[in-house]
Amino acid sequence: MARLHLQPGRERTVLRRHPWIFAGSVARLEGRARPGDTVDVVAADGTVIARAAWSPESQIRARVWSLDAEAAVDHAFFKRKVAESVARRATHPMLSAQDGVRLIHGESDGLPGVIADRYGAVVVVQLTSAGADKWRDAIVAGLVQATGCVAVYERSDSEVRRLEGLEPRAGLAYGELPADGLQIVENGVRMEVDVVGGHKTGFYLDQRDNRKLTGELARDRRILNCFCYTGGFSLQALAGGASSVLSIDSSGPALATAARNLALNPQLDASRADWCEDDVFEALRGLNAEGRKFDLIILDPPKFAPSAAHAERAARAYKDINLFGFRLLAPGGILMTYSCSGGIGLEMFQKIVASAAGDAGVDARILHRLAAAPDHPVGLAVPEGEYLKGLAIQVG
Ligand code: SAH
Repeated sequence: MARLHLQPGRERTVLRRHPWIFAGSVARLEGRARPGDTVDVVAADGTVIARAAWSPESQIRARVWSLDAEAAVDHAFFKRKVAESVARRATHPMLSAQDGVRLIHGESDGLPGVIADRYGAVVVVQLTSAGADKWRDAIVAGLVQATGCVAVYERSDSEVRRLEGLEPRAGLAYGELPADGLQIVENGVRMEVDVVGGHKTGFYLDQRDNRKLTGELARDRRILNCFCYTGGFSLQALAGGASSVLSIDSSGPALATAARNLALNPQLDASRADWCEDDVFEALRGLNAEGRKFDLIILDPPKFAPSAAHAERAARAYKDINLFGFRLLAPGGILMTYSCSGGIGLEMFQKIVASAAGDAGVDARILHRLAAAPDHPVGLAVPEGEYLKGLAIQVG
């Protein structure tokens, strides 16, 4: 096995369980390794401290599989890790009864570059690192064994694979997809999940608990749901007794799915729902010009800042939508505002939102800090920017 020698002192973050070894931490590679091969990680004093997947094309030169220097990184290793991740969800009281649940959340489950989401009897897997890609068969076999699913569909079509020198890839990895489409029930609401063509793995599971909270806050409120995608927040709001729900997204296909989702739920009063295909930045200005007011506004935009380098421009975009969000709120109204940008931490996000509130001239207080659902755990060693963060803010 090849040996990856670290620069002096660079063993510390690894031992603190941050699984990434950046190019700048590497002194040299002794021996030969192909992308994805397992290498010994050697501290400057010669001690082997970990086993990791080698990825020569990426700035993240290696990702740690195990801090056990003797660990056998083989088929059985991945089957065990997959089974452990699945078991953690199965015993969590907020997750065990869910139809849609993330089974593996990459680094936080000790499987860097591996995402797996279960939608009913179908599992969708996404492999984004050279190491994860190499162990595809073991990971898929582990998922089949641990879940008894009827199909595993691969959605490794994310552009981040290129940073690892991997081509995007998608297709069936096991079994067959249900011929008549796939649906899940989330907190009493039926939703279509398009694992082949939908965003990410088909659905945004990380927002499940926040969608539930929205439903709980919605009674008799006028709701504005910005960046609504397939209508998850909108339908929970209707289920919670909202008096009206206006939903905006720039994607026609997403809105078409949203309309089908509404039809899948005859218990909801469809006459209270309006859908609008538009750019949110424009739409907010239009609503403001018309003097419209809402009692609960959701802002769940796509990632404006994938990394710290984009933080400044992203901050302006967050400021803009939040400013209009506050302007459109009626007295006592609530803004539920999110960021999934890796380049913006919670503290910075709160500052941006506070400055928007200041410019809008509103008196505001935080009711809830909002995080991703517990099937998206965050490793303690991961920087705070790398996960969904949100604030529910009530204005005076
Ligand atoms: N809240 C959703 C997920 C939102 S994903 C849920 O709970 O399922 C972000 C959405 O923003 C996508 O549907 C995308 O089509 C939309 N989007 C991206 N940029 C946009 C823009 N400028 N205006 C309107 N919608 C936009």
